[in-house]
Amino acid sequence: MLGRRAPPGDSDGMSLPDPVDRPSRSELSLREYRPRPMVRLPRHEVPRPVVPVIDAHNHLGRWLSEDWMTPDLPGLLAVMDAHGVERLVNLDGRWGEELSANLARYDRAHPGRFTTFCHVDWARLVEPDGTASLLAQLEDSHRRGARGVKIWKDLGLTVRDGSGQLVRPDDPRVVAVVRRAGELELPVLIHVADPVAFFEPLDEHNERLEELASMPEWWFGDRDRHPTFDALMAALDVLVAAADATTFIGAHVGCHAEDLSAVSAMLHRRPNFHVDLGGRLAEIGRQPRAFARLVTEHPTRVLFGTDAFPLEAEALTVAYRFLETDDEHFDYAPGDEVPPQGRWAIAGAQLPAVQLEAVYRGNALRLGL
Ligand SMILES: [Zn+2]
Repeated sequence: MLGRRAPPGDSDGMSLPDPVDRPSRSELSLREYRPRPMVRLPRHEVPRPVVPVIDAHNHLGRWLSEDWMTPDLPGLLAVMDAHGVERLVNLDGRWGEELSANLARYDRAHPGRFTTFCHVDWARLVEPDGTASLLAQLEDSHRRGARGVKIWKDLGLTVRDGSGQLVRPDDPRVVAVVRRAGELELPVLIHVADPVAFFEPLDEHNERLEELASMPEWWFGDRDRHPTFDALMAALDVLVAAADATTFIGAHVGCHAEDLSAVSAMLHRRPNFHVDLGGRLAEIGRQPRAFARLVTEHPTRVLFGTDAFPLEAEALTVAYRFLETDDEHFDYAPGDEVPPQGRWAIAGAQLPAVQLEAVYRGNALRLGL
């Protein structure tokens, strides 16, 4: 709740007039608060990127949904064409026949427009020969045509082995899988942990409180059930070091978009590590100068990605506006009345053209995406 206060400078403490349609005389629910910014600033629409882009982080499968995530495939291709998207990386391939169905629907039906990654089925780790089974599955996925491996946050948060222990990202069985991926020249796009605030106490200081109130299953702050954020990041670092011949892409700005100096340190430490920008426009948009420094320090290691599914024009054009302009104080999710990841606005990073080319396309091409 926001207490009603007198406006700054109003020394006699005169109270605000109550709006006639408010139920309460003295308090306004945060949920109902809809401030309208009064700043007036230049506004640049960027419907198309300066070069064609590869979206390195997207979801087109059906394991998270009943039907295909994007039932209207011609519609998706029309959005891609209208907004300069050359290719999407589909991280939803799974394994076996489901992988083949993904490859048939996307990669093979529309050559050059889609790159499908597989998963591995960590549930096999409950079996005594789980590692051998996972390696065989990975090789089968490679034969079927998978172009990379996606590892999701369930590894480290919920996946358990036959003894009931949580499987950490730096577990030797995981190391064996990602090393084999490297031998097969499959890049590994890995998402470990989640936003830092999802591991913090669920109280009035939590900057994602509104979001967590509506998605309580995204909160991992119970120390009896989940590792700490720092423990998961440390495990990711060990994993990337242990498989140094494997190419890694750390999802969501290296899984630590709130601390770009930590991400930069990891990129310096681990030359086989890269990052995608999927789902973190709110984060990088509230620190555009820190983000620009990250790209300047590591121009070959940052990959464009949206994590927007089904992909709509707005997710692309807002991302282009962030990367290409120096516009200030704009919405990162213009369709939402309340910004979904926190009540703030973003400002553009205005990357130079050579960096834009690398982030949009060149770095993904170099990794074979
Ligand atoms: Zn994703």
